[in-house]
Amino acid sequence: MATRVDPTFFKSLEKFGVKDWKDCYHCGNCTANCPLTEEDTLFPRKTIRQAQMGLKDKLISNTDLWMCYFCGDCTKTCPREANPCEIMRSIRRYQTSVYDWTGLSKKLYTSAAWEIAVIVGIGIIILALFGLFLPPSAELWSNPARFINAQGGVMINNLVDGISGSKFLYIIHYGDWVMALIAGGLLISNIFRMFYLTLWRDTSVRIPLTAYVTEFWRLVYHFLTQPKLRKCDDKSYWLGHITLMTGYTIMFILIVALLPVFQTEEIVPWYNWQRILGYYATFGILVFLIPVIVGRFRKRQCKLKHTHPTDWHFIIMLGLTALSGIAVHIFRLSGMPLETYFSYVIHLAILVPMILIEVPFTKWSHLAYRPFAIYIKALKRAAGRREEAPIPQFA
Ligand code: SF4
Ligand code: SF4
Repeated sequence: MATRVDPTFFKSLEKFGVKDWKDCYHCGNCTANCPLTEEDTLFPRKTIRQAQMGLKDKLISNTDLWMCYFCGDCTKTCPREANPCEIMRSIRRYQTSVYDWTGLSKKLYTSAAWEIAVIVGIGIIILALFGLFLPPSAELWSNPARFINAQGGVMINNLVDGISGSKFLYIIHYGDWVMALIAGGLLISNIFRMFYLTLWRDTSVRIPLTAYVTEFWRLVYHFLTQPKLRKCDDKSYWLGHITLMTGYTIMFILIVALLPVFQTEEIVPWYNWQRILGYYATFGILVFLIPVIVGRFRKRQCKLKHTHPTDWHFIIMLGLTALSGIAVHIFRLSGMPLETYFSYVIHLAILVPMILIEVPFTKWSHLAYRPFAIYIKALKRAAGRREEAPIPQFA
């Protein structure tokens, strides 16, 4: 494949975060100090070099930056204060936008106004759907005791006017399926594009078909355990990350696959699996979010010094989803039907845009792209093809 140079490339990268690309003078400290760089996976210096030189195609086909966990160890030792960790983050945003064939990812990453408008727009659609088709029962005001069950809790599926509990539950359940199919379908199509841009486009690489099967375990293993992150200096980062990841994966399974058995009318005891899993998922989200929010305000840790608008949007959406979910739970247990209905609707008006925006287009997509990048790298190795080791030089 011919190597093309785009001298204005770093200008387009500026829209994704880092403004000054010239600070790095390639001393190599960052690569030497990065706990995750390997013989054939040289970063961040090589990736920064490709960006500076305008090697757009090489950067797009480069899966190295997905091996970076943004721990910030490299930034601590950069003599030029070039902040290689943040540069890697900016390039990750750029690559995410390149994988996305719809163009929406680029809009969301480069315009805070666009992202806010899309989130608010989807939230308003959810509120309108409830207002038009699932309005609160008039008896919520006049006779709230009718919605209280034998344990003194709210019968959450019976709060809507003229719709039986089981019908309401399945309307929400199928709605969750539609949301998951849209988000998952878009993400899968973007993953195919990632395969094309990083692997299939280069016709000189012939991947043995058996390798797709024999290397597949890496994808699952790295998704579930994130072992590379354990190599970073700050071990608590791995623990927080894995708690968050398992927390929202459990929450996603509970609301999309298991809603009819999760959202029951009965208030089950605290040691029932429904409540234990729900509490774990909420704990997992909060235990990660609270230190991240504090760290981003304090700006002491290298990895939290710079916050892109999309980082804040993600934190705010995830935090509000957790808080509104906690509110629904408390109102239910306290026997407050009116408050339960409205907090439930608000919870969905935050959750749905977060899933539809974050999973296929922005921050959450890295959960899929990183293990797939590790898989793609393993496929290249199986084909006897290693990434170019040398760092590109100016002539
Ligand atoms: S980012 Fe900093 S540490 Fe890394 S090569 Fe450039 S100047 Fe050196
Ligand atoms: S942020 Fe961490 S993993 Fe990423 S390049 Fe720097 S040291 Fe390596």
